[in-house]
Amino acid sequence: MKMGFLGTAWAVSTSSRDNTSLFLTTEKTAVLIDCSGNVWGKLLKMGFDPLKLESIFITHGHVDHVYGLPSLLEMMRLSGRKNPMKIHVGKDFRDRIERLLDLFEIEKHADSFRVDLLPLEYEETAITIGDLSIGTFPVKHTVKNLALKFATENKSVVYSSDTAFFEPLADFAKGCDVLVHEATMSTALGDNYREGHSTPSDAARIAERAGVKRLFLVHVGYSVAKQPEKAIEEAKKHFRGEVFIPHDLDVYEI
Ligand SMILES: [Zn+2]
Ligand SMILES: [Zn+2]
Repeated sequence: MKMGFLGTAWAVSTSSRDNTSLFLTTEKTAVLIDCSGNVWGKLLKMGFDPLKLESIFITHGHVDHVYGLPSLLEMMRLSGRKNPMKIHVGKDFRDRIERLLDLFEIEKHADSFRVDLLPLEYEETAITIGDLSIGTFPVKHTVKNLALKFATENKSVVYSSDTAFFEPLADFAKGCDVLVHEATMSTALGDNYREGHSTPSDAARIAERAGVKRLFLVHVGYSVAKQPEKAIEEAKKHFRGEVFIPHDLDVYEI
């Protein structure tokens, strides 16, 4: 399985970090998780054909996780996509996404492909796409939100999406290879506390309890982006595995 980071910033992007969104590819499928910025262009830069995306997952309806969607779908139509697109979206935000696509009349063209908006339950549910099985788990944000688990026969990744420190997430991520966890602020490095978000220490404590091998910090705010080495040091006080703060467009083999 390959994991690519299209963006790694929190709600405010920087000159080198766009809002957080990622993609996963396996031998049989490719999925996008959250959708901000110029996803099409970034996938091309990463050497991946955007028309091969099979499904999109939207964790919640905050603007930094959704605003790239109409444009991505439009670029797919203009580039000749015919296959229907399945968009799995946290149940509470299905209508918001529908309105967002309606606003730009994404499905109203003669050559529009079908878009299926499929609500994701917050309690643990299971979906299969190709060789990927996907699970959901409710996390603790300012709005209803969910973590996602993507697993093939022998590899597994959990993405926390936006969340405060939430211990039950460690059980959901138990024994996975990779935890991708948000780290919006570092109070140790001087950021103000933000409700519904985590620090590198919070993320590391979840990674340690889950026993994952690698922790990737994303959705990073000012201090974590400015002093990544210090944020990694902070996380390593609580987690014995490897800690990464990926750059935008980085691709990792899992
Ligand atoms: Zn966010
Ligand atoms: Zn959010």
